[in-house]
Amino acid sequence: MAIHEAGHAVAGFLLNEPFLYVTTVQNQGTAQPRLAGHVAFDDGGYDVNGVSTPEECQRIERMIMILLAGEHAQRLLYRQFMVPALDDHSLAKHAQYDTRQIMLYATSLARYGGWPSDMTLIRSTLQTRLDELVAGERYWNLVERLAGVVMGGRTLTWNEATAVLRSS
Ligand SMILES: [Zn+2]
Repeated sequence: MAIHEAGHAVAGFLLNEPFLYVTTVQNQGTAQPRLAGHVAFDDGGYDVNGVSTPEECQRIERMIMILLAGEHAQRLLYRQFMVPALDDHSLAKHAQYDTRQIMLYATSLARYGGWPSDMTLIRSTLQTRLDELVAGERYWNLVERLAGVVMGGRTLTWNEATAVLRSS
């Protein structure tokens, strides 16, 4: 779980998209699904229907890349150690949540951002962009480092997380 969350958070760091905090504590809210960890942005209820400016569209593109990065980090973990994650069930739930968010964001890009209304295309285009961003050793090194600090039910604010990442 920590690797998955760190994957989101490091992508946010590299894209300079500040989050409120990254946590491996299960959330207690009832409005959100109960996730055994998440990365929170200051606009959890971001209005995906009111997106109009190019800046907002670019932000949504970054948000999709950040959402894709959780699973990407898990694939890297698997490639590295050839072991599936231990907490498969909560990860599967989390992956569903990520996918739903990606669909919401992609829908608004298609509606307002001048993207073709082909969800698969939007997703794969931004996946390619993410792949370029996280190519090389650096991304994985940062993910491992942040995961080591946030694992076991810890929470780090943006400032705390970026301090950890800048010191590596
Ligand atoms: Zn995720």
